[in-house]
Amino acid sequence: MTQPIPDWNPPQVVPAKVVPAKVVPAKLEASLSAKRETQSLSYHDSYLCPICRHGQIAELTLMDAFACSFCRHIFTANLQNQTVQVVDSAQPLSWRWTGRGWQSTHRDDPSLSAVVWFVSSVLVLLPGSIVGLMAYLFPPLPGSLWSWFPMVWLACTFGVHLLMVGWLIAEHYQIPLYVASRVRLRDWLGRS
Ligand SMILES: [Zn+2]
Repeated sequence: MTQPIPDWNPPQVVPAKVVPAKVVPAKLEASLSAKRETQSLSYHDSYLCPICRHGQIAELTLMDAFACSFCRHIFTANLQNQTVQVVDSAQPLSWRWTGRGWQSTHRDDPSLSAVVWFVSSVLVLLPGSIVGLMAYLFPPLPGSLWSWFPMVWLACTFGVHLLMVGWLIAEHYQIPLYVASRVRLRDWLGRS
């Protein structure tokens, strides 16, 4: 005699959703791909700035170079390789135009990056740990009026050095958001 299986639920049949395939008219597709192909780097066009990712870079009149309308950086172009390189920056950053966007081509100096990261970690860790060690070795008298001071001082030391390191790294890697904010701040200070 077979025993009925308790709590057996028949498998639910979920109807498969029928997703209609996207139909792109052949003519439209052809014109789109043609547009993509023709978007090569040339002095007659303007492109999104690869540094600030906010302004447009366009040809500087009578010069084989581009300039950004927002951050004012200047780029020399190599139209054969479809690349641009920034000329007024401490770092020799360069990008290749892919037809739709920029691709970073520069390999930044690994020794310089190592120095930046080493200095950054020392700047964050060393002052904070000295202040923390002092607070630990010479703790304030319990219940005294200034007993909160070492902790606040430690937080301030840590926070200020973290800001400094953030600036150093943003400057080193030319982070677009940082570059755009710096330009806005400069404009705002110039206006007021
Ligand atoms: Zn720019």
